[in-house]
Amino acid sequence: MESITRFDGFVGNAHPVSVLRRATAPGSRTLGHAYLLHGTAGTGKKTLAAVTAAALVCQGEDDRPCGECPACKKAFGAFGHPDILVFRTPEGKTQFPVELIREIRRQAYIRPNESEKKVILIQNAEMMNVASANALLKVLEEPPEHLVFILTCDNLSALPETIPSRCICLELHEVAPRRAEQWLLRHFPEESADRLEGALLCGGGNLGKCIRFLEDEATQKLFERAIELCRALSDGREYDLLVSLAPLEGNRDQFADFLSMVDRLVCETAKAGFVSSSREAVSLAARLSPGRAVRVHQLGNEMRRGLKANVSLSLLLAVYSSGLKTIMET
Ligand SMILES: [Zn+2]
Repeated sequence: MESITRFDGFVGNAHPVSVLRRATAPGSRTLGHAYLLHGTAGTGKKTLAAVTAAALVCQGEDDRPCGECPACKKAFGAFGHPDILVFRTPEGKTQFPVELIREIRRQAYIRPNESEKKVILIQNAEMMNVASANALLKVLEEPPEHLVFILTCDNLSALPETIPSRCICLELHEVAPRRAEQWLLRHFPEESADRLEGALLCGGGNLGKCIRFLEDEATQKLFERAIELCRALSDGREYDLLVSLAPLEGNRDQFADFLSMVDRLVCETAKAGFVSSSREAVSLAARLSPGRAVRVHQLGNEMRRGLKANVSLSLLLAVYSSGLKTIMET
């Protein structure tokens, strides 16, 4: 998929998109000094942050970002634009290091190289602990004239309160599945109807999840395993049920993804018959009773709590498979 380089490439989320578009237009009087984009993973926060950052450095006459000028080419290019700095929690760390905040503060007061504005993007701001958040407060509240902060965050409640109170907060949502379908057809014209149907079943109105299905083979395989589990469950095939769970050993993130995929499937299954659904959902719905679907969902919630509380993965998988067996037998 080609990357989105203009505000009109977005589907849904009309409010945040129009706020940012107006704020970054040439001669705008509504530009704030800090924005916080929040919402579920996969709703387009990072993409919208990147487009907004590009709009702030774009040299285009009116509709910014134009996607064409040298500044836009840099902003969307492999090496980035020198006045757009991106900060995120380093791989393998569970918290945003306070040293990175010091680097952000140092960079904040250095004037932009090429543009009038300099943009500091902070991804997954919920990874900041109280110490990091406190270290950022002063510059976030009163940044130098040339600077705009854009923060993104999946979970607003995990963020120290002092951060959102200093930002213009904009929430992003999933889009209606029908609109997601139209968007996918436009952006993935080469894909087969089967693959697009799979992507929609996997992600629904969450375009990030749909795209991951299409672009990441591991995600597609994991989703196929989730379908296999639901089929085995509804047909009473205990051995196949265990087989579908076996490869999840050893990877907590993968198990979390798997749980949300199973959840999505049972939820779609419950809706099948009421709204237009994929063939897979309809065929599962014919076999998996609504009562069982609800119990699978509840069991998934228990597992998510276990993951959060750091319960060992092997124990969780054992409880999950025996819970599913019980659901199967009743
Ligand atoms: Zn431009």
